Amino acid sequence: MDKLKNAIREKGRVLSTEVLKVDSFLNHQIDVDLMMSVGEELARRFQTDSITKVLTIESSGIAPSMTAARDLGASLVFARKKKSLTMNNDVFVSQVYSFTKQETNDITVSKDFLNKNDRVLIIDDFLANGQAAFGLIDIVQQAGATVVGLGIVIEKSFQDGRQRLEDQGYRVESLARVHSLENGQVTFVDELQL
Ligand code: 5GP
Repeated sequence: MDKLKNAIREKGRVLSTEVLKVDSFLNHQIDVDLMMSVGEELARRFQTDSITKVLTIESSGIAPSMTAARDLGASLVFARKKKSLTMNNDVFVSQVYSFTKQETNDITVSKDFLNKNDRVLIIDDFLANGQAAFGLIDIVQQAGATVVGLGIVIEKSFQDGRQRLEDQGYRVESLARVHSLENGQVTFVDELQL
């Protein structure tokens, strides 16, 4: 998606060969217009898949999931990273190791918002090693629901998340696929043959 790749090129900051900072449009300040376009494109790719729920994880997955859910006519549910005081104990829980924070956290989703009839599109801001994705998949499986696929805003293709997901048969749609962050530069997978 060109608009997204341009934003990454112009506003992204390469923090290391493994970490890309996109605080100015996705992870802290939000470019609403861009995130609406991102959600629309994710919805377009899953338009014919009868999605009933979009499942993401707070907080950065929420913005791109909103227009995706709207366009798919689906509800949007986000997994919480901290259990809310108003949440009762009827929750699905999974453990996720955070790539950026380097710690393991429980993520929770109320049993009220996922059931066995749901066809779920999982959306996240980044795909690195797939820990967040597998945590969300685990929750969908606990509910007895179906994972239809994963929609990712920025995939770091030099890490093994996509491979691990595809090895287990999951469909992964990523709007920007980063081939490398070497030498402080972002290169994208689809630029390699140019
Ligand atoms: P994974 O679980 O696939 O290893 O990592 C994905 C999660 O870690 C995402 O939800 C995202 O929050 C965070 N993440 C991984 N890599 C990056 C990165 O390069 N930049 C930012 N801003 N977040 C990342």
